[in-house]
Amino acid sequence: MGCKLNFAESSALMNELIRRGYERAKQGEDADLIIVNTCTVTDTADQKDRQAIHRVRRENPKARIVVTGCYARLHPKEIADMVEVDRVVTKREDRFVPAYSKDDRTRCFLKVQDGCNYFCTYCAIPYARGRSRNPAIESVRAQAMKALKEGAKEIVLTGVNIGDFGRSTGEKFYDLLRALDSLPFEAPYRVRIGSVEPNLLTHEIIDLVAQSKHIAPHFHIPLQSGSDEVLRIMNRHYDTALFRDRVAYIREVLPYAFIGVDCMVGVRGETAERWEQYVPYIVSLPVSQLHVFTYSERSGTRMLQMDLPVIPMAERHRRSQVLHQVSEKKLQAFYSLCAGQPQTILWEGKNDKGTMYGFSENYLRHSRPYDKQRVNTFETIVPTD
Ligand code: SF4
Repeated sequence: MGCKLNFAESSALMNELIRRGYERAKQGEDADLIIVNTCTVTDTADQKDRQAIHRVRRENPKARIVVTGCYARLHPKEIADMVEVDRVVTKREDRFVPAYSKDDRTRCFLKVQDGCNYFCTYCAIPYARGRSRNPAIESVRAQAMKALKEGAKEIVLTGVNIGDFGRSTGEKFYDLLRALDSLPFEAPYRVRIGSVEPNLLTHEIIDLVAQSKHIAPHFHIPLQSGSDEVLRIMNRHYDTALFRDRVAYIREVLPYAFIGVDCMVGVRGETAERWEQYVPYIVSLPVSQLHVFTYSERSGTRMLQMDLPVIPMAERHRRSQVLHQVSEKKLQAFYSLCAGQPQTILWEGKNDKGTMYGFSENYLRHSRPYDKQRVNTFETIVPTD
């Protein structure tokens, strides 16, 4: 369940079981063992976890069901109380546990970091995943090489707070990116950076991406609010001026880069006045798309102990709609900006009723009639619309 990091870890669990002699159950076949690797990022995620547990029990009445992951770690009792569950695994190691996964032959999600030391007041992840830690650059390099030799063409760096890479080894995220940009691999490959906190996305890193042969011009930056007061309430590590500087610098050196921005709406303390500052701020930022999240209360987080006005649910949803509309306009403007610009597409393997899909370096999705010869290859085109 959940994010790309969980996806990578689920694959690592499966590979370890296979190494120990297990076989993967086929579709429709009764499994002996089922591991549900849960997510707890929102209440909806918790609900989806529980639904998945009900479903796998229904479909596999005799299986042993083990539940692990972030929800299990934060709310072990809720899960242990479910009659479907045989065992809850809550222990999480403090050392870095490597993981990578492939969604098809094309793309590989490589875990480069785990945990977080930031303790944003709305977020429960540091309690579920522990403190920030990472492997040495050398070991990430070796894993990336292995994935490329196995046929992956794109490596997506995943983690909880990947810009914090190096905290446990004394290295730097910048040096990791340099190492991955110069792998001794002859065939074309691409590296995509996952979400990086704006305060950790330095000009040095942006320059590196601009000069790099392999790192995709694609940034995913969490903003969360366009009001400095709300950012302070959230315990974020930057203000709106710093965020604007980062976006402006990206646009200066990489005019066609995709910039996706996480925005939260309806957190406690987001008064009407602060919301009024948020909207024009976000409208004025030259970004490509917003990923909008409606705030939901997470037990155990500091925000719940703070004396702040609570935004009614209906108003939270209304604000979410407003930002969705802003996002749609930004995406259309970005498509227009990129029309006529050469793009290199990596075609994926799925045959969707005769159509295949692929993403450009700056994360534009393209389609064409399915052609087996093109699967897992790069193609440069100039889109006209
Ligand atoms: S940076 Fe903040 S929001 Fe992101 S995982 Fe860490 S505490 Fe949570």
